[in-house]
Amino acid sequence: MKNLVKQIRFPALEDILSFAQNVAETSGRWVNWQIIRGMRHVWWETDWDVLSRWAQSIIETEERLREITQRETFVKKNIHRFHNGSDEAAKLVLPDFIEELIALDHEYTRLERIYDTLLAGCPVGPIKSGYLWIRKQPQWHLRNEWLRQDCARRGGCCGRQCKCCEKPPDPMRKKGWGHCTAKCACCNDVLEDGFRLTERNRRTLQPEFDLTVYPWSDYSREMFRAYIWSLE
Ligand SMILES: [Zn+2]
Ligand SMILES: [Zn+2]
Ligand SMILES: [Zn+2]
Repeated sequence: MKNLVKQIRFPALEDILSFAQNVAETSGRWVNWQIIRGMRHVWWETDWDVLSRWAQSIIETEERLREITQRETFVKKNIHRFHNGSDEAAKLVLPDFIEELIALDHEYTRLERIYDTLLAGCPVGPIKSGYLWIRKQPQWHLRNEWLRQDCARRGGCCGRQCKCCEKPPDPMRKKGWGHCTAKCACCNDVLEDGFRLTERNRRTLQPEFDLTVYPWSDYSREMFRAYIWSLE
């Protein structure tokens, strides 16, 4: 009902926004288009509770998909290393790694289903079209400077020369492509030089944000802007 009142009051504004959105889209000025979507969102969408919960869940699910993908890379790397190495004792852990790989594959499939369900459950409106549009852009996570800096600040690969975040994804793990999580194979090697991150390093690599708690922290706000609108 609130939306209806707004639309009656500002029909001209909505027309202008539609026009501006079309211009921005066809001219390829994608960031501007996202800003326009954001403005529409603020004007027309009022149910922040629903949207905040949705945003929190989808960002967390994306992070979990990246974790699984990065852990798979770590495990595969070690299988390769131990299998080809001369340390016979180290080879004893190979069955454990193979088992873990199978479990990770199942978990990825499960999370993909959750992700698709969340996407389908997003209320139709500017936030959904904005989110979908951003995710269709090639290498969207690399075009966002805030995300790159955030990765570097958390101790991720964007702060080093390895360029792991830029490497093309496994075609079967496209949803798992993105910046470092606590499971990143390269970060694990650099920070711990072993199998597990320390709790302190894990906390650094794991961003803490909660969009369901008001008022949002500065970090939560930045996460929302970066992951949902790809704004900096
Ligand atoms: Zn990394
Ligand atoms: Zn790296
Ligand atoms: Zn990164």
